[in-house]
Amino acid sequence: MDQKPPFVAKSAHNCQWATPTLLEPSPRWIEAESKPWTCHRDAEPRPLDTTEVCEDCPHWDERPAPEF
Ligand code: SF4
Repeated sequence: MDQKPPFVAKSAHNCQWATPTLLEPSPRWIEAESKPWTCHRDAEPRPLDTTEVCEDCPHWDERPAPEF
């Protein structure tokens, strides 16, 4: 029986380019309340107004699983 790979919904929380805005250096972290994720795919960090853009983003790249 063929097994399909698990479906991975594309989002900011599982994209290797996204970081929580709260962890950004000052003054960027100040936007964390309204823009909780920041995309680092481009040359300049880009706080995301919404993570809906990640659902269809061609640059989404799965965040590697943490090593314990
Ligand atoms: S916009 Fe694209 S590259 Fe940036 S965090 Fe979202 S999915 Fe990742």
